[in-house]
Amino acid sequence: MITVESALETILKEIKPLGLESVDITSALGRVIGEDIAARGSNPPWDNSAMDGYAVRAADAKGASGENPAKLSVLYDLPAGSVPKGPVGQGQAVRIMTGAPVPDGADAVVMVEKTESGDGFVLIKTEPRTGENIRKAGEDFKAGDVVIKKGSLIRPAEISMLATVGVPFVLVHKRPRVAVISTGDELCDIMEAPPSGKISNSNGYALAALVAATGAVPIQLGIAKDTKESLRQKLTAALSADCIISSGGVSVGDYDFVKDVLKDMGSSMIFWKVAMKPGKPLAFGVIGGKPAFGLPGNPISSMVAFEQFVRPTLLKMAGKTGLFRQTFKAELTKDIKIKPGRMNFIRAELKATENGFTATPLDGQGSGMIMTMVRANSFVIIPQDSSGFKQGDIVSVQPFDDTIFTAVRPGY
Ligand code: AMP
Ligand code: MG
Repeated sequence: MITVESALETILKEIKPLGLESVDITSALGRVIGEDIAARGSNPPWDNSAMDGYAVRAADAKGASGENPAKLSVLYDLPAGSVPKGPVGQGQAVRIMTGAPVPDGADAVVMVEKTESGDGFVLIKTEPRTGENIRKAGEDFKAGDVVIKKGSLIRPAEISMLATVGVPFVLVHKRPRVAVISTGDELCDIMEAPPSGKISNSNGYALAALVAATGAVPIQLGIAKDTKESLRQKLTAALSADCIISSGGVSVGDYDFVKDVLKDMGSSMIFWKVAMKPGKPLAFGVIGGKPAFGLPGNPISSMVAFEQFVRPTLLKMAGKTGLFRQTFKAELTKDIKIKPGRMNFIRAELKATENGFTATPLDGQGSGMIMTMVRANSFVIIPQDSSGFKQGDIVSVQPFDDTIFTAVRPGY
């Protein structure tokens, strides 16, 4: 058996990011940018007002207060989107709105709340600081600055930046297209009521959802029979995708032909017994330049193996650098006893409390028990040489979705 870490290392060594394509920034969310973005202009482009108020020369209102206001004559109104009609001279002010360019001569903006307006004049009831309420040209970034680095994940903030610098299309890494094949004579499609002896193909749908959750594009190729011909046919069709995943047929049963067919088709297939539970049998190789995974058939085994091996692969193909789930230290609320020798992924409920995280391992850890997966949001990770932990121990927990980052408030 090999360790989870060395299997992962062997897989990721083979994976390269996909090429680039140009997309509209409205569909760039979650993608990885393949170019440096340099600003053509500065931001702000010119000094502008941070407040609605009066653009003044600070020296003209030196010592001003509520009791002793400075009286300035008002030259004109300057709404956002217009340009100054002329400079502010001694004893003068301009009525200015947030975002409007500060006229020459003015070196402060007094907020409207600290003024009183009259007919053609304004009373300034505070002493302005030089530069007050003025956003300086280039204080955010300057023309020529690299504002987004190649390799960055595009979040709403990056989209704001792209729009600010006037870039409507951007080069991003392509999204991996992932062929999903389910294998097994016992499977029937969910559109049919399973006849006796048959079960619904759940893995195909679960794996497609896991693929989509990484930002990749799943392509459901349906069910292959437990014959070499049927498997070969599906796998051949799958070669037009960027990555291939199958479930089932990789263990030591009489009808487990996935290994044989993958070996026939692939230049470098590896079959592992990975020291993990659930998810021990795993096939990995490169067929026609495409990574191919033979995942185990048990529903939870295939999901755990996907999380640990396929997810980082798809993220790397999409150009991402944060490939792994963050783990958190949490206090165990119940004992866990296991047989040492394999890394165990125990389905659990991770909770944020006022005193940190708690992890509650759930009853029903069988690799076909989907109910436990439905109730869980994380895996407690039990190292390979451990025989478990006691209530109150601090353990490593790996959330597999983002429910831990959401909060439910009473009444909502
Ligand atoms: P296998 O590795 O092919 O022997 O499958 C192991 C177990 O997982 C068996 O009980 C299968 O019926 C079950 N299984 C395999 N593929 C699927 C699937 N696509 N959906 C649901 N269960 C599956
Ligand atoms: Mg099978």
